[in-house]
Amino acid sequence: MGVLDRSDPEIGEAICREELRQRSNIELIAAENYTSKAVLEAMGSVLTDKYAEGYPQHRYYGGCSEVDLVEEIARERAKSLFGAQHANVQPHSGAQANMAAYLALLDQGDTVMAMKLSHGGHLTHGSGVNFSGRFYRFILYGVSRETERLDYEEIERLALRYRPKLIVAGASAYPRIIDFERFRHIADLVGARLMADIAHLAGLVAAGVHPSPVPHADIVSSTTHKTLRGPRGGFLLSKAEFSSRLDEAVFPGVQGGPLMHVIAAKAVAFGEAMRPEFASYQRAVVENARILAAELQRGGLRLVSGGTDNHLILVDLSEMGLTGKEAEQVLEAVGIIVNRNAIPFDSRPPQVASGIRLGTPAVTSRGFGANEMRRIAPLMVKVLTNIGEEKAYEEVRQEVAEISSAFPVPGLGP
Ligand SMILES: *Cc1c(COP(=O)(O)O)cnc(C)c1O
Repeated sequence: MGVLDRSDPEIGEAICREELRQRSNIELIAAENYTSKAVLEAMGSVLTDKYAEGYPQHRYYGGCSEVDLVEEIARERAKSLFGAQHANVQPHSGAQANMAAYLALLDQGDTVMAMKLSHGGHLTHGSGVNFSGRFYRFILYGVSRETERLDYEEIERLALRYRPKLIVAGASAYPRIIDFERFRHIADLVGARLMADIAHLAGLVAAGVHPSPVPHADIVSSTTHKTLRGPRGGFLLSKAEFSSRLDEAVFPGVQGGPLMHVIAAKAVAFGEAMRPEFASYQRAVVENARILAAELQRGGLRLVSGGTDNHLILVDLSEMGLTGKEAEQVLEAVGIIVNRNAIPFDSRPPQVASGIRLGTPAVTSRGFGANEMRRIAPLMVKVLTNIGEEKAYEEVRQEVAEISSAFPVPGLGP
């Protein structure tokens, strides 16, 4: 770190310890990834000092020529990467992007349909503790009990019954393909707008390993920091018809000045995502998830929906007599980082939960492949089936250290 270590050791040292943690743990949080050094450099640049309320060529501040260029490049790259008619790269986060999308399409009290949080949806899809659940009337759909997959017939029935103004398609913990075309068909049946939230899927969509919602949805919202491997942030895509409404909803609707250093880093990440290596990376993410899933099943774990089509896996621990919280804690104790997660029809509260969610984007960025998946799965099974056995934990800890030391973290180097 250098300067920071000397000028503010409390923070400098915490960052150093975090670097060490990232190097020495196996990161299986489905929503996380490792950015490149180029992305980190753009984010740590002087662009953080610049106020630029408004949009390129229409700012409320002087001195914006360079940041105008940066934002124009970011917008153009986002449009071409996803084949979209319009892009807004200013949302500070995925939640902020969703807030702006709702503001652009809805009035307070309007009816919206989205996926239940407890079945894999997101807080911003109508949860009572979120603005979305307080400002709009959400009708929530879920997965079927038998298949644990989205039940499109039920979604259609709900749509016909409640006549929503907007249908939201997208999830945070759904391991299967989302059929955006089918959602469009349902939206058209009732004259609803369709919004796709691809916060988790953006990288897969950009690389063509998951069907794109862009031809079907009126607005697409996303984060940049999950599978897309950019800086922490959000962005929006839309059909041309919604462009000015959407831009006005972001600024001045829900945000003030844009984070220009983050927008520069988004541009860098979009640029990286346009290269052929990025498509190979995303194919490896999905292949790794498939192998990890199969190996965990071989070790006796039950996976929600029986497997995965994307970058994430939802493990149901209830038959093992374990909670998600316990599993998260014992795995962390051996250096494998996951998050507890509700499973569909969970009987436990979300702070405890009956499942864990695993994802391969971060480890794949680090270069893990099929061999590492085949090594990690039995380690996880060993810990989860030997709760409280310090000897087993210690053996796993050593293997985790061995695997981690062989794969540098991209933004940190060896
Ligand atoms: C992660 C996520 C978000 C929110 O992103 P933040 O940047 O954490 O605000 C929104 N929607 C879905 C589906 C997500 O998975």
